[in-house]
Amino acid sequence: MSHSIKDRVVVVTGGSKGIGRGIAQVFAEAGARVAIMARDGKQAAAVAAEIGHGAIGLAGDVTDKASLVSGFGAVAQRFGGIDVLCANAGVFPSARLETMTEAEWDHVSDTNLKGTFLSVQAAIPFLKKSDQGRIVVTSSITGPVTGFPGWTHYAASKAGQLGFMRTACMELAKYGITVNAVLPGNIVTEGLAGMGAAYQASMAASVPLGRLGAVADIGHAALYFASKEAGYVTGQTIIVDGGQILPESLDALAQA
Ligand code: NAP
Repeated sequence: MSHSIKDRVVVVTGGSKGIGRGIAQVFAEAGARVAIMARDGKQAAAVAAEIGHGAIGLAGDVTDKASLVSGFGAVAQRFGGIDVLCANAGVFPSARLETMTEAEWDHVSDTNLKGTFLSVQAAIPFLKKSDQGRIVVTSSITGPVTGFPGWTHYAASKAGQLGFMRTACMELAKYGITVNAVLPGNIVTEGLAGMGAAYQASMAASVPLGRLGAVADIGHAALYFASKEAGYVTGQTIIVDGGQILPESLDALAQA
C-alpha cells in the first residue's frame, strides 16, 4: 500500500509533537514529501530535520486564515503542489463545565473545530489540482463516542469535526478529494509520557489490547486514508484505540 504515497506532498498541521509528529514520521518513511506546520516554526523545522527524508517544517497557526494560506502556498511552491492534508493540530486543556469561561471554550473550539475548517478551506485550491487529493482529520474517541469530565468543549469540538467532515466530503467529491477521520484512543505522546509510568499503566489497564497507543498507530491509519487504494472511501471514520471503547463495564474487562 505505502508505495502509493511515494513522492506525494503531505502537510501535517500540529506535526511538531505527539500524534502529528508520528503521522509525519510514518508518511516520510513511506516516501512522501512531508511538511509539518506548528505555531513554533523553529520547533517544526527541528523536528522535520530529525524526521529526515527531506521533510520540512514551517510556522503556521490553524486559527489564522492568512497564516494557513501563506504557509500552504510556501509548501506548494517548494514541492510543486499539495496532495494530502492531515488536519491534526489540536489542544485539550481541561475545564469543568460549571466554571468554564467563554475564552476557554473559544480557545478549544477555535483551534480544533474552526481550525479544521480553515485548514481544509486553505488546502482546497491545491488538493483540487491533485489526482490523489486527500484530507485526513484527527478527531478523537472523546466526543464522537465517549465522554470525559473536564472536556465538554473538547468533546464538542471533536464531534463537530465529524459533522463537518460528512458534508465537506460531499462538496469535495466532485474534485476526487476524499475526507476521512481517525479517532485515536489514549496515545502515548510527550505530554502523557511526562505523567509517569504508574499513570500510564493505570490508563492501559482499561484497554483490552493491554497497552496505550503509539503515535505510529495513528500514522498508519492516516496513511491508509491518504493512499491511492482508499480512493473510494470518503466521509468515514476509523477508531484506533486498542478496543478501549468496547467493554460494557469494568466487570466485562476483568472477565476478558
Ligand atoms: P500535542 O502533543 O500537544 O501536539 C499538538 C501539536 O499541535 C503541536 O505540534 C502544536 O505545536 C500544534 N498546535 C497547537 N495549536 C496549534 C495551532 N493553533 N496552530 C498550529 N498548530 C498548533 O497533541 P497530541 O496529543 O499529539 O494531539 C494531536 C491531535 O490528536 C489533536 O487533534 C488531539 O485532539 C488528537 N487526539 C490526541 C489523543 C492523545 O491521546 N494524545 C487522543 C485523541 C485525539 P505548537 O504548540 O508549536 O503550535
